[in-house]
Amino acid sequence: MTARTVEGRLIKAYVLGSGPRSLLVMGGVHGNETSSVALIRHFEQWVSHYRLPPSDCLLIVVPDANPDGHARGTRTNADSVDLNRNFPTRDWGTLPRRKGDYPGPRPASEPETRFVLMLIARFHPSLIVSVHAPYRQLNIDGPAMRVARKMHRFNHDPITRRIGYPTPGSLGTYAGKERHVPVITLELASRGMHPAWKTDGAALLAAMNGVCGHSRQDSG
Ligand SMILES: [Zn+2]
Repeated sequence: MTARTVEGRLIKAYVLGSGPRSLLVMGGVHGNETSSVALIRHFEQWVSHYRLPPSDCLLIVVPDANPDGHARGTRTNADSVDLNRNFPTRDWGTLPRRKGDYPGPRPASEPETRFVLMLIARFHPSLIVSVHAPYRQLNIDGPAMRVARKMHRFNHDPITRRIGYPTPGSLGTYAGKERHVPVITLELASRGMHPAWKTDGAALLAAMNGVCGHSRQDSG
């Protein structure tokens, strides 16, 4: 599935497998956090190559959620909007804000945000993992502790419920806090360095197996 950015670039979502449980994984929401795009691209290639996910699991993979920002090397999209402040939450647009996190003229004003909203509405993911950098942690919103612990075994990142500053209009608030969809914001250690596949990649695979394995337990 695809959509167009503000500048007309293609945003791609790879939809793999099928089943009652589903996992939405994305990178590059902030265009200057290129390590997250590299990790999710690698993840998508790994999953495709090894014919994962398991048969009862649907995987939606968005390696680069903000291609305009990626091309420009900016946190924001081409409208200078911080996409992770643009989700239509109850606290959208509330202060205090930090420099560079303009939430947009209105909630979900940006096509990149609306694409993620469409994926959530269409696939009802059992878990969302959004990869950022550089605060090295597993930040959770909603009922995500069980899977966060599985990921922690592989990357040893601290599991946190607060990232340390307010994030009105974030994906975590929209899906995790307001809709009780488990959201894990995986913060890599570096924005630019190529991520460590053996630790953070393994953590992503653990998240996938946590969602899919849970399905087998539920149905069995
Ligand atoms: Zn970020």
